[in-house]
Amino acid sequence: MYICSNLSFKGLKMKTNRFKFLSIILFVFVVFQFQAKSQGNFKTPKNVIIMIADGWSESCIDATEYFNDGEKGKSIYRDFDIQLFMSTYPAKVSDAEIPQNWSVGYNSYRAWSDFESAKNGATCSGAAGTALATGVKTYNGAIGMDLSKKPLPNLTEKFKSIGRAAGVITSVYFSHATPATFVAHNVHRDNYSEIALSMLLDSKVDVIMGAGHPNFDKSGKKANESDYNYKLVGGKDAWNDLKAGKTKFSTSSLSGNSIVQDIDGDGKSDQWTLIESRDQFQKLMSGETPKRVVGVPKVLETLQFNRTEENYTNAFEIPFNNEVPTLAEMTKAAINVLDNNPNGFFLMIEGGAVDWANHANVAPRMIEEMTDFNMSVKAVVDWVESKSSWDENLVIVTGDHDCGYVTGPIENNNNPNTNPIINNGKGNMPGLRYNHTNHTNILIPFFAKGAGSEIYNRLANNSDMIRGRFIDLTDVPNAIFMLLEVGK
Ligand SMILES: [Zn+2]
Repeated sequence: MYICSNLSFKGLKMKTNRFKFLSIILFVFVVFQFQAKSQGNFKTPKNVIIMIADGWSESCIDATEYFNDGEKGKSIYRDFDIQLFMSTYPAKVSDAEIPQNWSVGYNSYRAWSDFESAKNGATCSGAAGTALATGVKTYNGAIGMDLSKKPLPNLTEKFKSIGRAAGVITSVYFSHATPATFVAHNVHRDNYSEIALSMLLDSKVDVIMGAGHPNFDKSGKKANESDYNYKLVGGKDAWNDLKAGKTKFSTSSLSGNSIVQDIDGDGKSDQWTLIESRDQFQKLMSGETPKRVVGVPKVLETLQFNRTEENYTNAFEIPFNNEVPTLAEMTKAAINVLDNNPNGFFLMIEGGAVDWANHANVAPRMIEEMTDFNMSVKAVVDWVESKSSWDENLVIVTGDHDCGYVTGPIENNNNPNTNPIINNGKGNMPGLRYNHTNHTNILIPFFAKGAGSEIYNRLANNSDMIRGRFIDLTDVPNAIFMLLEVGK
Protein backbone atom coordinates (compact mmCIF):
# COMPACT_ATOMS: atom_id res chain seq x y z
CA MET A 1 0.00 0.00 0.00
CA TYR A 2 2.80 2.48 0.84
CA ILE A 3 4.04 2.15 -2.72
CA CYS A 4 0.83 3.71 -4.07
CA SER A 5 0.73 6.57 -1.56
CA ASN A 6 4.14 7.83 -2.78
CA LEU A 7 2.93 8.19 -6.34
CA SER A 8 2.73 11.52 -8.04
CA PHE A 9 1.56 11.77 -11.62
CA LYS A 10 1.58 15.62 -11.67
CA GLY A 11 3.76 17.30 -14.27
CA LEU A 12 4.88 14.10 -15.95
CA LYS A 13 4.48 13.36 -19.61
CA MET A 14 1.83 10.84 -20.59
CA LYS A 15 4.35 8.25 -21.91
CA THR A 16 6.51 8.40 -18.80
CA ASN A 17 3.36 8.19 -16.75
CA ARG A 18 2.18 5.11 -18.48
CA PHE A 19 5.61 3.50 -18.24
CA LYS A 20 5.87 4.34 -14.57
CA PHE A 21 2.36 3.15 -13.90
CA LEU A 22 2.97 -0.14 -15.67
CA SER A 23 6.25 -0.72 -13.87
CA ILE A 24 4.57 -0.06 -10.56
CA ILE A 25 1.79 -2.50 -11.38
CA LEU A 26 4.49 -5.01 -12.31
CA PHE A 27 6.40 -4.27 -9.12
CA VAL A 28 3.32 -4.72 -6.94
CA PHE A 29 2.54 -7.96 -8.77
CA VAL A 30 6.08 -9.26 -8.16
CA VAL A 31 5.93 -8.27 -4.48
CA PHE A 32 2.61 -10.06 -4.14
CA GLN A 33 4.00 -13.15 -5.82
CA PHE A 34 7.06 -13.07 -3.62
CA GLN A 35 4.98 -12.76 -0.47
CA ALA A 36 2.75 -15.59 -1.62
CA LYS A 37 5.84 -17.72 -2.12
CA SER A 38 7.68 -16.81 1.03
CA GLN A 39 4.69 -17.05 3.34
CA GLY A 40 3.30 -20.08 1.60
CA ASN A 41 -0.26 -20.47 0.43
CA PHE A 42 -0.31 -24.07 1.44
CA LYS A 43 -3.04 -25.77 3.38
CA THR A 44 -1.90 -27.39 6.60
CA PRO A 45 -3.08 -31.00 6.69
CA LYS A 46 -4.83 -32.42 9.72
CA ASN A 47 -3.73 -35.94 8.86
CA VAL A 48 -0.60 -37.03 7.00
CA ILE A 49 -0.23 -40.53 5.55
CA ILE A 50 3.11 -41.54 4.02
CA MET A 51 3.04 -44.77 2.06
CA ILE A 52 6.38 -46.37 1.17
CA ALA A 53 6.80 -49.28 -1.25
CA ASP A 54 10.26 -50.36 -0.15
CA GLY A 55 12.49 -50.97 -3.17
CA TRP A 56 10.04 -49.79 -5.84
CA SER A 57 10.71 -48.08 -9.17
CA GLU A 58 8.85 -46.86 -12.22
CA SER A 59 9.47 -50.31 -13.74
CA CYS A 60 7.77 -52.06 -10.79
CA ILE A 61 4.68 -49.87 -11.17
CA ASP A 62 4.52 -50.51 -14.93
CA ALA A 63 4.96 -54.28 -14.53
CA THR A 64 2.21 -54.43 -11.89
CA GLU A 65 -0.18 -52.37 -14.02
CA TYR A 66 0.40 -54.56 -17.07
CA PHE A 67 -0.29 -57.70 -15.02
CA ASN A 68 -3.38 -56.40 -13.20
CA ASP A 69 -4.94 -54.08 -15.77
CA GLY A 70 -3.38 -54.97 -19.12
CA GLU A 71 -2.45 -51.33 -19.59
CA LYS A 72 -0.32 -48.58 -18.10
CA GLY A 73 -1.59 -45.83 -15.83
CA LYS A 74 -4.38 -47.49 -13.83
CA SER A 75 -2.71 -47.36 -10.38
CA ILE A 76 -4.78 -45.08 -8.16
CA TYR A 77 -1.86 -42.69 -7.52
CA ARG A 78 -1.39 -42.07 -11.26
CA ASP A 79 -4.30 -39.62 -10.82
CA PHE A 80 -2.67 -37.75 -7.93
CA ASP A 81 -2.09 -34.02 -8.48
CA ILE A 82 1.60 -34.16 -7.69
CA GLN A 83 3.73 -36.55 -9.74
CA LEU A 84 7.48 -36.17 -9.46
CA PHE A 85 10.62 -38.22 -9.07
CA MET A 86 12.88 -38.41 -6.03
CA SER A 87 16.60 -38.92 -5.37
CA THR A 88 17.45 -41.34 -2.57
CA TYR A 89 21.24 -41.35 -2.00
CA PRO A 90 22.53 -41.45 1.61
CA ALA A 91 25.11 -39.16 3.21
CA LYS A 92 27.52 -42.07 3.53
CA VAL A 93 27.32 -45.60 2.21
CA SER A 94 28.63 -46.99 5.51
CA ASP A 95 29.44 -45.67 8.94
CA ALA A 96 33.17 -46.34 8.53
CA GLU A 97 35.28 -43.17 8.72
CA ILE A 98 36.98 -43.53 5.35
CA PRO A 99 36.58 -40.87 2.65
CA GLN A 100 35.41 -43.12 -0.19
CA ASN A 101 32.37 -44.00 1.86
CA TRP A 102 30.92 -40.55 1.30
CA SER A 103 27.95 -40.63 -0.99
CA VAL A 104 28.28 -40.02 -4.74
CA GLY A 105 24.97 -38.12 -4.77
CA TYR A 106 22.82 -38.23 -7.89
CA ASN A 107 24.06 -37.06 -11.27
CA SER A 108 21.61 -37.15 -14.17
CA TYR A 109 24.21 -37.39 -16.93
CA ARG A 110 26.11 -40.17 -15.20
CA ALA A 111 22.91 -42.07 -14.38
CA TRP A 112 21.74 -42.17 -18.01
CA SER A 113 25.12 -42.52 -19.77
CA ASP A 114 26.67 -45.22 -17.60
CA PHE A 115 24.19 -47.95 -16.65
CA GLU A 116 26.51 -49.53 -14.09
CA SER A 117 27.07 -46.26 -12.24
CA ALA A 118 23.69 -46.51 -10.48
CA LYS A 119 24.91 -49.58 -8.60
CA ASN A 120 27.30 -47.36 -6.64
CA GLY A 121 26.39 -45.23 -3.69
CA ALA A 122 22.88 -46.60 -3.13
CA THR A 123 21.11 -46.05 0.15
CA CYS A 124 19.87 -48.76 2.51
CA SER A 125 16.40 -48.58 4.04
CA GLY A 126 17.89 -47.35 7.32
CA ALA A 127 19.42 -44.19 5.86
CA ALA A 128 16.50 -43.74 3.43
CA GLY A 129 13.91 -44.17 6.20
CA THR A 130 15.82 -41.78 8.44
CA ALA A 131 15.80 -39.20 5.63
CA LEU A 132 12.05 -39.72 5.09
CA ALA A 133 11.26 -39.57 8.82
CA THR A 134 13.61 -36.77 9.93
CA GLY A 135 14.66 -34.80 6.84
CA VAL A 136 18.36 -35.49 7.40
CA LYS A 137 20.68 -37.66 5.33
CA THR A 138 22.80 -40.09 7.29
CA TYR A 139 24.95 -43.23 6.97
CA ASN A 140 23.65 -46.58 5.72
CA GLY A 141 22.46 -48.67 8.64
CA ALA A 142 21.39 -45.75 10.81
CA ILE A 143 17.98 -45.76 12.50
CA GLY A 144 16.98 -42.17 13.25
CA MET A 145 20.58 -41.15 14.03
CA ASP A 146 22.75 -38.51 12.38
CA LEU A 147 26.36 -38.90 11.20
CA SER A 148 27.65 -38.32 14.71
CA LYS A 149 25.21 -40.95 16.02
CA LYS A 150 22.95 -38.49 17.79
CA PRO A 151 19.17 -39.02 17.67
CA LEU A 152 17.22 -36.96 15.13
CA PRO A 153 13.64 -35.77 15.83
CA ASN A 154 11.17 -37.62 13.58
CA LEU A 155 7.63 -37.19 12.25
CA THR A 156 5.87 -39.42 14.80
CA GLU A 157 7.54 -37.51 17.65
CA LYS A 158 6.53 -34.21 16.02
CA PHE A 159 2.89 -35.26 15.68
CA LYS A 160 2.73 -36.58 19.25
CA SER A 161 4.29 -33.34 20.54
CA ILE A 162 1.44 -31.29 19.04
CA GLY A 163 -1.29 -33.51 20.45
CA ARG A 164 -1.97 -35.66 17.42
CA ALA A 165 -1.92 -39.43 17.03
CA ALA A 166 0.84 -41.37 15.24
CA GLY A 167 1.45 -44.88 14.00
CA VAL A 168 3.53 -47.12 11.76
CA ILE A 169 2.49 -50.28 9.95
CA THR A 170 4.37 -52.63 7.64
CA SER A 171 4.06 -55.92 5.80
CA VAL A 172 7.48 -57.00 7.16
CA TYR A 173 8.44 -57.11 10.86
CA PHE A 174 7.76 -53.95 12.81
CA SER A 175 11.34 -53.62 14.06
CA HIS A 176 12.61 -53.65 10.45
CA ALA A 177 14.42 -50.57 9.13
CA THR A 178 11.63 -48.47 7.61
CA PRO A 179 9.08 -48.52 10.47
CA ALA A 180 11.96 -48.34 12.96
CA THR A 181 13.28 -45.07 11.50
CA PHE A 182 9.91 -43.37 12.08
CA VAL A 183 9.82 -44.32 15.78
CA ALA A 184 13.17 -45.38 17.22
CA HIS A 185 16.79 -44.29 17.35
CA ASN A 186 19.61 -46.81 17.11
CA VAL A 187 23.13 -46.84 15.73
CA HIS A 188 22.34 -49.87 13.57
CA ARG A 189 19.28 -51.41 11.95
CA ASP A 190 20.34 -54.96 12.83
CA ASN A 191 19.76 -54.38 16.56
CA TYR A 192 16.18 -55.63 16.23
CA SER A 193 15.53 -56.39 19.90
CA GLU A 194 16.80 -52.99 21.03
CA ILE A 195 14.74 -51.30 18.33
CA ALA A 196 11.56 -53.23 19.20
CA LEU A 197 11.96 -52.38 22.90
CA SER A 198 12.50 -48.73 22.06
CA MET A 199 9.33 -48.71 19.94
CA LEU A 200 7.30 -50.36 22.72
CA LEU A 201 8.75 -48.62 25.77
CA ASP A 202 10.29 -45.27 24.76
CA SER A 203 7.85 -44.09 22.10
CA LYS A 204 4.43 -42.50 22.50
CA VAL A 205 2.98 -43.77 19.23
CA ASP A 206 -0.58 -45.09 19.24
CA VAL A 207 -0.27 -47.87 16.68
CA ILE A 208 2.47 -50.31 15.67
CA MET A 209 1.68 -53.16 13.27
CA GLY A 210 3.98 -55.58 11.54
CA ALA A 211 5.16 -59.19 11.50
CA GLY A 212 7.75 -60.62 13.87
CA HIS A 213 5.51 -63.18 15.63
CA PRO A 214 7.82 -65.40 17.69
CA ASN A 215 5.61 -68.52 17.61
CA PHE A 216 5.35 -68.84 13.84
CA ASP A 217 7.89 -69.51 11.11
CA LYS A 218 8.54 -67.37 8.07
CA SER A 219 5.93 -69.26 6.02
CA GLY A 220 3.28 -68.65 8.69
CA LYS A 221 3.25 -72.19 10.14
CA LYS A 222 3.24 -72.70 13.92
CA ALA A 223 6.87 -73.15 14.95
CA ASN A 224 8.20 -75.85 17.29
CA GLU A 225 8.57 -74.43 20.77
CA SER A 226 12.33 -74.90 20.58
CA ASP A 227 12.36 -72.67 17.49
CA TYR A 228 10.43 -69.76 18.92
CA ASN A 229 12.24 -66.59 17.84
CA TYR A 230 11.69 -63.56 20.05
CA LYS A 231 14.44 -61.38 18.61
CA LEU A 232 12.21 -59.28 16.35
CA VAL A 233 9.76 -58.28 19.12
CA GLY A 234 12.26 -57.36 21.85
CA GLY A 235 12.91 -60.73 23.52
CA LYS A 236 10.85 -63.38 25.32
CA ASP A 237 10.19 -61.32 28.45
CA ALA A 238 8.98 -58.32 26.44
CA TRP A 239 6.67 -60.53 24.39
CA ASN A 240 5.13 -62.07 27.51
CA ASP A 241 4.72 -58.63 29.11
CA LEU A 242 3.09 -57.35 25.92
CA LYS A 243 0.71 -60.34 25.84
CA ALA A 244 -0.19 -59.74 29.48
CA GLY A 245 -0.87 -56.04 28.83
CA LYS A 246 1.74 -55.00 31.41
CA THR A 247 2.67 -51.34 31.83
CA LYS A 248 5.93 -52.23 33.58
CA PHE A 249 8.07 -54.61 31.56
CA SER A 250 10.53 -57.01 33.22
CA THR A 251 13.10 -55.88 30.66
CA SER A 252 14.20 -52.37 29.76
CA SER A 253 15.05 -50.41 26.62
CA LEU A 254 18.58 -49.28 25.76
CA SER A 255 17.82 -45.97 27.47
CA GLY A 256 17.02 -47.85 30.68
CA ASN A 257 13.26 -47.43 30.50
CA SER A 258 10.97 -50.31 31.46
CA ILE A 259 7.69 -48.41 31.83
CA VAL A 260 5.22 -48.10 28.95
CA GLN A 261 4.67 -44.41 28.11
CA ASP A 262 1.82 -42.22 29.28
CA ILE A 263 0.51 -40.85 25.99
CA ASP A 264 -2.37 -38.67 27.21
CA GLY A 265 -0.61 -36.88 30.04
CA ASP A 266 -2.80 -38.21 32.87
CA GLY A 267 0.21 -39.54 34.73
CA LYS A 268 -0.64 -43.19 34.03
CA SER A 269 1.10 -45.52 31.59
CA ASP A 270 -1.05 -46.34 28.61
CA GLN A 271 -0.79 -50.08 28.04
CA TRP A 272 -0.61 -51.74 24.65
CA THR A 273 -3.39 -53.99 23.40
CA LEU A 274 -1.84 -56.84 21.40
CA ILE A 275 -3.74 -58.33 18.47
CA GLU A 276 -2.51 -61.34 16.51
CA SER A 277 -5.22 -63.13 14.51
CA ARG A 278 -6.52 -61.97 11.15
CA ASP A 279 -9.99 -61.90 12.71
CA GLN A 280 -8.79 -59.38 15.33
CA PHE A 281 -7.32 -57.15 12.61
CA GLN A 282 -10.57 -57.29 10.64
CA LYS A 283 -12.66 -56.49 13.74
CA LEU A 284 -10.48 -53.46 14.41
CA MET A 285 -11.34 -52.03 10.97
CA SER A 286 -14.54 -50.49 12.38
CA GLY A 287 -16.17 -49.58 15.66
CA GLU A 288 -14.67 -48.89 19.07
CA THR A 289 -10.94 -49.41 19.54
CA PRO A 290 -8.45 -49.73 22.37
CA LYS A 291 -6.28 -46.66 23.03
CA ARG A 292 -2.98 -48.15 21.81
CA VAL A 293 -2.60 -51.19 19.56
CA VAL A 294 0.31 -53.42 18.64
CA GLY A 295 -0.70 -55.77 15.83
CA VAL A 296 1.59 -58.72 15.17
CA PRO A 297 0.23 -61.08 12.47
CA LYS A 298 0.94 -64.78 12.92
CA VAL A 299 4.06 -64.97 10.78
CA LEU A 300 7.73 -64.43 11.63
CA GLU A 301 9.02 -62.11 8.92
CA THR A 302 6.54 -60.88 6.32
CA LEU A 303 2.89 -61.44 5.43
CA GLN A 304 2.99 -63.42 2.15
CA PHE A 305 6.44 -63.22 0.58
CA ASN A 306 7.75 -66.43 2.22
CA ARG A 307 4.48 -68.39 2.32
CA THR A 308 6.04 -71.02 0.06
CA GLU A 309 9.54 -71.96 -1.02
CA GLU A 310 8.19 -73.25 -4.31
CA ASN A 311 9.31 -71.43 -7.45
CA TYR A 312 6.43 -70.21 -9.53
CA THR A 313 6.19 -68.21 -12.71
CA ASN A 314 2.87 -66.37 -12.49
CA ALA A 315 1.89 -63.92 -9.76
CA PHE A 316 -0.89 -65.25 -7.48
CA GLU A 317 -0.36 -68.82 -8.75
CA ILE A 318 0.20 -70.08 -5.20
CA PRO A 319 -2.70 -69.37 -2.78
CA PHE A 320 -2.11 -66.77 -0.10
CA ASN A 321 -1.85 -67.57 3.62
CA ASN A 322 -5.33 -66.66 4.86
CA GLU A 323 -4.29 -66.58 8.51
CA VAL A 324 -2.64 -63.17 8.20
CA PRO A 325 -4.24 -59.83 7.32
CA THR A 326 -3.56 -57.97 4.09
CA LEU A 327 -1.73 -54.65 4.24
CA ALA A 328 -5.06 -53.02 3.28
CA GLU A 329 -6.78 -54.61 6.31
CA MET A 330 -3.96 -53.45 8.56
CA THR A 331 -4.30 -49.98 7.01
CA LYS A 332 -8.03 -49.78 7.75
CA ALA A 333 -7.51 -51.07 11.31
CA ALA A 334 -4.69 -48.59 11.99
CA ILE A 335 -6.67 -45.61 10.68
CA ASN A 336 -9.69 -46.68 12.76
CA VAL A 337 -7.54 -46.39 15.89
CA LEU A 338 -5.69 -43.20 14.87
CA ASP A 339 -8.79 -41.26 13.80
CA ASN A 340 -10.05 -41.34 17.40
CA ASN A 341 -7.82 -38.31 17.98
CA PRO A 342 -9.82 -35.18 17.00
CA ASN A 343 -6.61 -33.21 16.35
CA GLY A 344 -5.46 -35.53 13.55
CA PHE A 345 -2.82 -38.18 12.99
CA PHE A 346 0.31 -39.30 11.19
CA LEU A 347 0.58 -42.78 9.69
CA MET A 348 3.47 -44.44 7.86
CA ILE A 349 2.47 -47.49 5.81
CA GLU A 350 5.20 -49.68 4.35
CA GLY A 351 4.87 -52.30 1.64
CA GLY A 352 8.10 -53.81 2.88
CA ALA A 353 8.48 -56.98 0.84
CA VAL A 354 8.55 -55.35 -2.61
CA ASP A 355 12.22 -54.95 -1.71
CA TRP A 356 12.55 -58.59 -0.64
CA ALA A 357 11.11 -59.80 -3.95
CA ASN A 358 13.44 -57.51 -5.89
CA HIS A 359 16.53 -58.65 -3.94
CA ALA A 360 15.55 -62.24 -4.81
CA ASN A 361 14.85 -61.21 -8.44
CA VAL A 362 11.43 -62.91 -8.38
CA ALA A 363 9.02 -60.86 -10.49
CA PRO A 364 5.81 -62.79 -9.63
CA ARG A 365 6.30 -62.04 -5.93
CA MET A 366 7.24 -58.42 -6.67
CA ILE A 367 3.92 -58.01 -8.50
CA GLU A 368 2.05 -59.64 -5.57
CA GLU A 369 3.69 -57.29 -3.06
CA MET A 370 3.13 -54.24 -5.28
CA THR A 371 -0.53 -55.25 -5.65
CA ASP A 372 -0.93 -55.55 -1.87
CA PHE A 373 0.63 -52.09 -1.52
CA ASN A 374 -1.64 -50.64 -4.24
CA MET A 375 -4.70 -52.09 -2.47
CA SER A 376 -3.56 -50.38 0.69
CA VAL A 377 -3.28 -47.05 -1.19
CA LYS A 378 -6.85 -47.65 -2.39
CA ALA A 379 -7.97 -48.27 1.21
CA VAL A 380 -6.43 -44.93 2.24
CA VAL A 381 -8.02 -43.04 -0.67
CA ASP A 382 -11.41 -44.67 0.04
CA TRP A 383 -11.16 -43.63 3.69
CA VAL A 384 -10.21 -40.03 2.79
CA GLU A 385 -13.09 -39.75 0.33
CA SER A 386 -15.76 -41.45 2.46
CA LYS A 387 -14.83 -40.52 6.05
CA SER A 388 -12.73 -37.36 5.66
CA SER A 389 -11.70 -35.12 2.75
CA TRP A 390 -8.72 -34.04 0.65
CA ASP A 391 -8.88 -30.66 2.44
CA GLU A 392 -7.80 -32.37 5.65
CA ASN A 393 -5.47 -35.06 4.40
CA LEU A 394 -2.05 -35.13 2.79
CA VAL A 395 -1.36 -38.54 1.23
CA ILE A 396 2.12 -39.33 -0.10
CA VAL A 397 2.83 -42.48 -2.09
CA THR A 398 6.46 -43.23 -2.84
CA GLY A 399 9.35 -45.61 -2.15
CA ASP A 400 12.67 -45.33 -0.35
CA HIS A 401 15.05 -46.51 -3.10
CA ASP A 402 15.10 -48.74 -6.16
CA CYS A 403 15.97 -52.41 -5.78
CA GLY A 404 16.69 -54.94 -8.54
CA TYR A 405 17.21 -52.38 -11.33
CA VAL A 406 14.36 -53.76 -13.42
CA THR A 407 14.31 -53.02 -17.17
CA GLY A 408 12.58 -54.47 -20.19
CA PRO A 409 13.88 -57.78 -21.59
CA ILE A 410 15.73 -56.61 -24.75
CA GLU A 411 19.19 -58.13 -24.86
CA ASN A 412 22.20 -55.81 -24.82
CA ASN A 413 20.00 -52.83 -24.01
CA ASN A 414 20.02 -51.90 -20.39
CA ASN A 415 18.70 -48.38 -20.72
CA PRO A 416 15.36 -48.41 -18.89
CA ASN A 417 14.25 -45.51 -21.09
CA THR A 418 14.68 -47.28 -24.42
CA ASN A 419 14.10 -50.78 -23.06
CA PRO A 420 10.73 -50.50 -21.29
CA ILE A 421 8.72 -53.28 -19.61
CA ILE A 422 6.74 -55.32 -22.18
CA ASN A 423 2.98 -55.59 -21.74
CA ASN A 424 1.86 -59.18 -22.30
CA GLY A 425 -1.76 -58.48 -21.36
CA LYS A 426 -3.82 -58.77 -18.20
CA GLY A 427 -3.00 -61.81 -16.08
CA ASN A 428 0.23 -62.53 -17.95
CA MET A 429 3.67 -61.84 -16.59
CA PRO A 430 5.12 -58.78 -18.33
CA GLY A 431 8.47 -58.95 -20.11
CA LEU A 432 11.21 -57.69 -17.83
CA ARG A 433 14.73 -58.34 -16.66
CA TYR A 434 16.48 -57.88 -13.32
CA ASN A 435 19.89 -56.21 -13.61
CA HIS A 436 20.95 -56.22 -9.95
CA THR A 437 20.28 -58.07 -6.71
CA ASN A 438 20.64 -54.98 -4.57
CA HIS A 439 19.59 -51.34 -4.31
CA THR A 440 20.51 -48.72 -6.90
CA ASN A 441 20.81 -44.97 -6.89
CA ILE A 442 18.27 -44.24 -9.66
CA LEU A 443 15.40 -41.78 -9.20
CA ILE A 444 12.14 -43.29 -7.98
CA PRO A 445 8.52 -42.10 -8.43
CA PHE A 446 6.84 -39.76 -5.95
CA PHE A 447 3.10 -39.02 -5.82
CA ALA A 448 1.16 -36.72 -3.48
CA LYS A 449 -2.40 -35.51 -3.16
CA GLY A 450 -4.42 -33.37 -0.78
CA ALA A 451 -3.84 -30.58 1.73
CA GLY A 452 -0.47 -28.91 1.21
CA SER A 453 0.65 -31.30 -1.52
CA GLU A 454 1.54 -28.44 -3.92
CA ILE A 455 4.53 -27.69 -1.68
CA TYR A 456 6.34 -30.59 -3.35
CA ASN A 457 6.03 -28.99 -6.78
CA ARG A 458 7.63 -25.90 -5.26
CA LEU A 459 10.45 -27.94 -3.73
CA ALA A 460 11.23 -29.89 -6.91
CA ASN A 461 14.11 -27.69 -7.99
CA ASN A 462 16.33 -30.46 -9.34
CA SER A 463 16.00 -31.63 -12.92
CA ASP A 464 16.80 -34.95 -14.55
CA MET A 465 17.29 -35.16 -18.32
CA ILE A 466 14.78 -38.04 -18.65
CA ARG A 467 12.59 -37.94 -15.54
CA GLY A 468 12.16 -34.18 -15.30
CA ARG A 469 11.85 -32.34 -12.01
CA PHE A 470 12.62 -34.21 -8.83
CA ILE A 471 12.72 -33.77 -5.08
CA ASP A 472 14.95 -35.55 -2.56
CA LEU A 473 13.92 -37.96 0.22
CA THR A 474 14.68 -35.26 2.79
CA ASP A 475 12.13 -32.90 1.21
CA VAL A 476 9.30 -35.26 2.19
CA PRO A 477 9.34 -34.65 5.98
CA ASN A 478 10.90 -31.19 5.77
CA ALA A 479 7.84 -30.03 3.79
CA ILE A 480 5.55 -31.55 6.43
CA PHE A 481 7.47 -29.84 9.25
CA MET A 482 7.07 -26.57 7.27
CA LEU A 483 3.34 -27.10 6.69
CA LEU A 484 2.81 -27.72 10.42
CA GLU A 485 4.64 -24.44 11.20
CA VAL A 486 2.51 -22.48 8.71
CA GLY A 487 -0.64 -23.92 10.28
CA LYS A 488 0.22 -22.85 13.82
ZN1 LIG B 1 16.65 -53.83 0.33
